[in-house]
Amino acid sequence: MLFGILRENDHRVSVTPELAKKFISEGHEVCFEIGAGTTAYFNDSSYTAVGATEKSREDILKTANVLITLAPISKEEVELLSEGTLLFSSFEPFQDASICELYATKGISAFSFDMIPRTTIAQSMDVLSSMASIAGYKAVLKATELLPRYMPMLSTAAGTVPPSKVLILGAGVAGLQAIATAKRLGAQVEAFDTRAASKEEVQSLGAKFVEVAGANDDTNAGGYAVEQSEEYKKKQAELINQKIEKADVVITTAQLRGRPAPTLISEEAVKSMKPGSVIVDIASSTGGNCALTEDAKVVKKHDVFIVGNSNLAADISEQASVLFSKNVQNYFKLMLTKEGFNFDFSDEIILQSCIVYKGEVIYGNEAKQQALVPAPQVEETAEA
Ligand code: NAD
Repeated sequence: MLFGILRENDHRVSVTPELAKKFISEGHEVCFEIGAGTTAYFNDSSYTAVGATEKSREDILKTANVLITLAPISKEEVELLSEGTLLFSSFEPFQDASICELYATKGISAFSFDMIPRTTIAQSMDVLSSMASIAGYKAVLKATELLPRYMPMLSTAAGTVPPSKVLILGAGVAGLQAIATAKRLGAQVEAFDTRAASKEEVQSLGAKFVEVAGANDDTNAGGYAVEQSEEYKKKQAELINQKIEKADVVITTAQLRGRPAPTLISEEAVKSMKPGSVIVDIASSTGGNCALTEDAKVVKKHDVFIVGNSNLAADISEQASVLFSKNVQNYFKLMLTKEGFNFDFSDEIILQSCIVYKGEVIYGNEAKQQALVPAPQVEETAEA
């Protein structure tokens, strides 16, 4: 099989030289676009050193059997692919299912990393978690950089400096890493999440959990948040507004899969904050948690910095690439052999992540999905 590595639109690369080396050691070939890893500090020579070949982007698109990318390739580039190409990327079909149609051609198969179930067994392949954790860490560092105040409490000869108050809204993977990072910097940290399970996790990191009673039960939502009642949202907003007013930094990470992010910070709440305070909104790409967020921008409104950035993992490009590659390597253990790919659709991880198979859209079509699952083997028993 010929694996292709393309230059991405951000600073990460999907396959490190170490993973390329592994593919080659298993008898496959690897080609890379010139400069594919440069911004993640893997230069071209580190790929050629492990036996990968440099090619033009067009050449890779036309000849590779397997393309692994962080972001999906464009419609125009799909035209160049050869029959039966295997695409692995984060297609986010839950945001816009029509993306699948782009790949339902020429016998192409597309597997989406963000559709891998969030189960314990799949944790080592969970690209969403790896990237969210980096984003949570970087969000705190961004805030620290902009904040005109210290994070830790300090006793100086000129007087005592109080610690900054950091409020984390959304204590999932990104939020928990933000809590840990802010704690390490010595800030006073509080966090809020609608998922009941997050309380214990927040407290185990030494932060205070902001409690709003009466949330809808989310036990069967596969680890994701569920929509809450209007009354609950009102109570939640009131308490959160009080916390926002006192905070020096607010990091927001609250997302609802497949839907716009909930607005948790109104313009009024921003106005109530102390001048120079900072909001980092990681949910900006899906609408943002702050009413004044502008995606992919840092703005200053009512004397408060508002960072809208859902792509913070790309700022820690080397580590993010290493972790992404490790996730890919672990995922491929389920399906890649020396002879090529073998998709066993009785495996939930493979089944759920396959969105297009041999030119047919599978995502959202339960009948087609089930048709991929092999019939269970009936064991023959000797007649008595
Ligand atoms: P996410 O990115 O979808 O959302 C981030 C957080 O925002 C979530 O914790 C969510 O509950 C919260 N949120 C949503 N609406 C909110 C609101 N109105 N107010 C406050 N918070 C709100 O979620 P995620 O971080 O990717 O993961 C969600 C959960 O799934 C986490 O508990 C995580 O531990 C779990 N998970 C499990 C596995 C696994 O077992 N393999 C892997 C990854 C994640």
